[in-house]
Order: sequence, then C-alpha cells, then structure tokens
Amino acid sequence: MNDYIIDAQEITKEYDGFKAVDGLNLQIKKGEVFGFLGPNGAGKTTSISMMVGLLKPTSGQILIDGVKIEKIDKGMIGICPQELVLWEHLTSLESLKLMGDMYDVPGDVLKERAHKLLEDLFLDEKANTLVINLSGGMKRRLNLALALIHSPEIVVLDEPSEGLDPQSRRVLWNFINSLRDDEGKTVILTTHLMDEADKLSDRIAIIDHGKLLRLDTPENLKKDIGEGDVVEILLSNSEENNDALNILKEMEEIESVIEINNKLDVRALNAVSKLPSIMKNLEEEKISIEDLSVRQNTLEDVFIELTGTGLRE
Ligand code: ATP
Repeated sequence: MNDYIIDAQEITKEYDGFKAVDGLNLQIKKGEVFGFLGPNGAGKTTSISMMVGLLKPTSGQILIDGVKIEKIDKGMIGICPQELVLWEHLTSLESLKLMGDMYDVPGDVLKERAHKLLEDLFLDEKANTLVINLSGGMKRRLNLALALIHSPEIVVLDEPSEGLDPQSRRVLWNFINSLRDDEGKTVILTTHLMDEADKLSDRIAIIDHGKLLRLDTPENLKKDIGEGDVVEILLSNSEENNDALNILKEMEEIESVIEINNKLDVRALNAVSKLPSIMKNLEEEKISIEDLSVRQNTLEDVFIELTGTGLRE
C-alpha cells in the first residue's frame, strides 16, 4: 500500500535545451486535493502532463501507486482539459454514454453514473439537450462529467473555473469537495484564482521556472510568509496603547503586536477565533476599544513573495 498515488522523482522536461521542468520532486497523497500554482509559463501544465502520462519526461521517473507510469491502466486517470472537448451534435446524455463506451464501462453502471454526474453537476434538466444548445458554463460542466464517466482514481482539472460565473463556481467547488470526501478521489488542480486554491486544496505546490518553490498546506504557506492574520485595534484612548501592547504580547498564540499609526496590529493564526479573548483581556484592564477589524493574509501575498510577481504573461 502506497501513501503516495503520484511520486514524481527528479523529473525534467527539456525543449531544445530549455528546461520547462527542472528536476521536480513531488509526491501527491491519495485522496487529497492538490493545487498547482505558478505564474504563466512556470511549467505547471508540462509537469502535470508528465505526471499523468501524457508527456514523457526527458529524465526522471514517475510512479503511480508504486507502479511505473508506463505500465499503469490509463483508466486510472481522468483529465478535464482547459479547452472543451465536446461533440456538439450529441445530447449531454449521449455524450456521456459515448465516452463511457470508449472506456468499456458496462451498460448498467454507465447509465447510473451518467445520471448521477448530470445531477451532481446540475445538468439533469439538460440531459436531452444538444451540446450546441448548452450555455458556456453548462458546456464546461459537461466537459468535467466526461472526464469522470469511467470513475478514474486520479482527476486532473486544468483551470476548471475559467469562464464560470460565481454560481457555477460554487457548484464546481462543492463537486470537487465531494469527489474527495465522498468518493476518495485524488484531485489535481491548476488555477490562477488564489482563493480557489486556498479554499479547495489540502496542499499546494508553488512552482516557477520549472522548479518547486514551496509545497505545504495553504495555512502553513500563509503562516510562514505573513505570520497569520492581522487584527487592527484602535483604542478610545491612544495613551493606553502601551499597556494594551503589553497585555496582548503576553497572550498565547499571538505571533506579534506592534503599534502602527496609533493602531495596534496584532498578528495571529486564525485571528477571528482569538477576538473574544483579546477583547476580554483588554476590558479586564478597563481599556476600551473604539474600532477593530481583521484582515487576512492571502495566498496572493505568498505567491507574490515567492515568485516576485503577480500572474506573468
Ligand atoms: P500557463 O499558466 O500559462 O498555462 P504553465 O505553468 O502551464 O503556464 P507550461 O505550459 O508548462 O506553463 O510551459 C512551461 C514552459 O515550457 C513555457 O516557457 C513554454 O513556452 C514551454 N513549452 C511548453 N511546451 C512546449 C513545447 N511543446 N515546445 C517548446 N516549449 C514548450
């Protein structure tokens, strides 16, 4: 039994001497949602393509559940590409049945799965609608259903939220969570949306210039870079700032307290959960708060700190 469903060992991809991926070591655990972040051209698609057998590395090797990738059953992996791969003149249901037949999914299983996928992705009312008559967001959801009809263990989603409205994005997010939580699938996700990566991923790899910069949980990434969230406190009487500062510094799980522009900036992990005790400790010393707000560190801060850039074109 392997803990890692994907084990990429020193993989490199060169194009005419240019290293698109440069000695990447990466392990993906069974049943996790694994996010891939990096600026444009960082090597995300190339890395993932190698890790799922679409592209042969120049050097290095990949094990899938302990087996060399060249030897695995390709049905283990489902890939939902960024571009739509649909048959416009079939209905949603016919498309799913055709794809299922290609993977030799038995008829009764196929029927059940197709209906469940349509239902889960809110397409059941469009089962008998021609693909050409689906909206853009519906087409994207059908694209995803097609990647899953053979029930692969590993699901690769390449920028799945691209072009979806906020409502469809929620449907997608819930669906991705249920793939992991209810079905135990491993999901690999690329996205340029930091909040999406943050909300969905158990762990995130940040890569640039074909190399791994960091790999950790979203929470740890944010903690390492920005030492948690920031609570900004304005006291009614700024002469009490010093006393308040000393009280807050004594509190457990508070990373740091500094005075900036007459306000107290308190850094803590999960600062919202610390608010009641912060308020109580100050009130006990008769220090009154005029205003208080919480600002969260975002993955965007982490990303920019590591790659020195926003999203590079
Ligand atoms: P994006 O976020 O823009 O999709 P990415 O991180 O997925 O970017 P890749 O598509 O993996 O980046 O590309 C990494 C680098 O490798 C880029 O510089 C790209 O131009 C180069 N590259 C990718 N495929 C090829 C190819 N077939 N031939 C030559 N160079 C390539």
